[in-house]
Formats: sequence, structure tokens, C-alpha cells
Amino acid sequence: MDSKDFLHSLLLTPSPTGHEQPVQRLVRQRMKAYADSIETDLHGNVICALNPKAPRKVMLAGHCDQIALMVRHISSDGYLYVSALGGIDVGVLHAARVTVHTERGPIEGVIGRKPIHAQSGDERDKTKNDIERIWIDIGAKDKKDAEKRVKIGDVATFHLSVLDLGNGLISAPGLDDKVGLFVAMEVLRLCSKKKLNVGLYAVSTVQEEVGLRGAQTSAYGINPEVGIAIDVTHATDNPGNENAKATPCKLGAGPTIAAGPNINPVVERMLRDSAKKTKSAFQIAPTTRPLGNDANTIQVARGGVAAAAIGIPNRYMHTQAEVCAYRDVELAIAILVHFVTSITPKTDFRPM
Ligand SMILES: [Zn+2]
Repeated sequence: MDSKDFLHSLLLTPSPTGHEQPVQRLVRQRMKAYADSIETDLHGNVICALNPKAPRKVMLAGHCDQIALMVRHISSDGYLYVSALGGIDVGVLHAARVTVHTERGPIEGVIGRKPIHAQSGDERDKTKNDIERIWIDIGAKDKKDAEKRVKIGDVATFHLSVLDLGNGLISAPGLDDKVGLFVAMEVLRLCSKKKLNVGLYAVSTVQEEVGLRGAQTSAYGINPEVGIAIDVTHATDNPGNENAKATPCKLGAGPTIAAGPNINPVVERMLRDSAKKTKSAFQIAPTTRPLGNDANTIQVARGGVAAAAIGIPNRYMHTQAEVCAYRDVELAIAILVHFVTSITPKTDFRPM
């Protein structure tokens, strides 16, 4: 499988938060040829390692879980009412195609709601963002018929598909964070041909979308010296970001390298140097608070980790129409491969 096919396969394989097993199977299968060891921990994280006996360890985290819906009620007429699993944008759910992932396999459905003709003015406003006022229609005759296929607690994702847009842009549900997962695994693949002074751990983390949980458990288990999260970051190059004071973030202008208290200054400087040495464009993402991604929990694992974050610019985050640029993904890989291979026995990550 070539790399682009692997990315597309990740995007076409469901991984609702807490139900990441299908995508984790794909990661294990793909990485067998490149990793020295692959382990799945009790939480469900998949940990691929190169050089695992090395005393110094570098962890790269890409979360494999994606936002989803969970069936909480099946009505007497056979409609599925849902709760959000992660920060889903309810405003984009209406009329979406969804797939319910049941024990017996996937079932297609559509999200229904009261037609606009029947909504009062007041209702039109309310319906926009109210998950109580929508349901999944799987074509069931009634509750009994629906229950033959679906049970309460089953999860649904947007219908998974990949679109190539113009100018090297890609659109798919779950680019958050399958692009980051892809970057972590590609860095390990490319490093498998190189001499390393460290053990490299590429981790497909679970449950990021409900509290950065897989990074917390896997960082504890691995006990790395350096931990870098690769996740999507909000692009500002679409309408609606007119705030002139926001730091610009453009698709195709390179991945972001975060700066701020969540970031170890030595790792940050080395990442910028790696970008310069590999002639990779990058953007700076200043962040004054702990990040809303895996770098947050990695930094405070055990006695503390030299943490950093690489961002892949993303439009329309947490919708089915997320957009990223292939170029940013490629540059992130180049920067990280250079970073990992540039660590020498003398590199000291302590902020001094
Ligand atoms: Zn994410």
C-alpha cells in the first residue's frame, strides 16, 4: 500500500471515540513491516516502536478517534435519537448521511428533522443547534424493526468518504486527526531506514476527543523524554476569521509549530531548525494556555515530559467537510524525521 492509499484507508475506516478498534487494526497491519515492536495497551492505544531498547525515548502521538454520535433512544416509530460523542457541530448534522456501526456491521441512515415548511419562526432558530430535535432514519418500520439491527449504545459517524479538491486540498470527515496519526506513522516508517540515537514510539492514541485520555495513559506507559502531539489546528483562511488580531494560519503554508507554556523550548527550537534545514515552510502557533490536544496530558505525565505540538491547518473542524492540504502533511513529516534523527547523545532537553 502506498502512503496516500494508507491515508485514504485511515479516513475510510471508522474510529468513533471509544470504538477505535477497526482503525487500530489497520494501523497494526500497516506498521508490521516497519516497526521493531507493536503493542496494544489495555486502554486501546497502539504503540509502534523503533529501537525500543534505547534508554532515551521520543513519543509521537496522533489520535485515531473521531467525533461521533451515540444512540440513546429508539422511538416507537423506529427513529434513533442520539447524543454527541465529542464536540460535534450539531448545526451541520441536518440532512447528513451517517453510518451506524452495529455489532452486525454498518447500516446507512440519514439525519431527519421537521421540514422547514412546518417550523415556526421561533423553531427555526432553535432547531439549528438542538440535538434533541433531530434523529437518524434508517428506514425502520417501527421500534421492533429498528432493534433487529441497532441497539442503544451503538455509535454512528458521518458517512465516510474522501474528496480531492483543487490545489492539493483534501476533504473528509475525521481529518481530525487521521492526518496527525498518518504523520506519526509515516515518520516512523521513514526513520526505520535511518540510524537513531533514541527509541522512537509512534502512538495511535484513543479518546482524545473526550479528554486527551489515550495520550495520558500511553505517555505514562512509555515514559518518554520527548513527546510531540500531531493534530489539526484551526485555519484562518476561510471567511469568518476577520479578526485582524488572530495569528494567521493558512492551508498549504506549512504545519504549525506551537509556542507557549505547553511547549518545551529546546524541542521547539529544534523543530524550527529542522524546518529550516529541510527547507520546509512552517507557521508559528502561539498558545498561552495548555493545548486542547494530546500535548497537554503528555507534558504532565509522570515527572514531566519535554512536550511539543505540530499542527496541520484544518478548515471546518468537527464537521463532515473538514479540509486540509497534502503539502502541510508532507512538510510535517519532513520536519519530524529531521528532528528525530538530529537528536544526539549530547542533546539536553531540560530548559536551562
Ligand atoms: Zn484532534
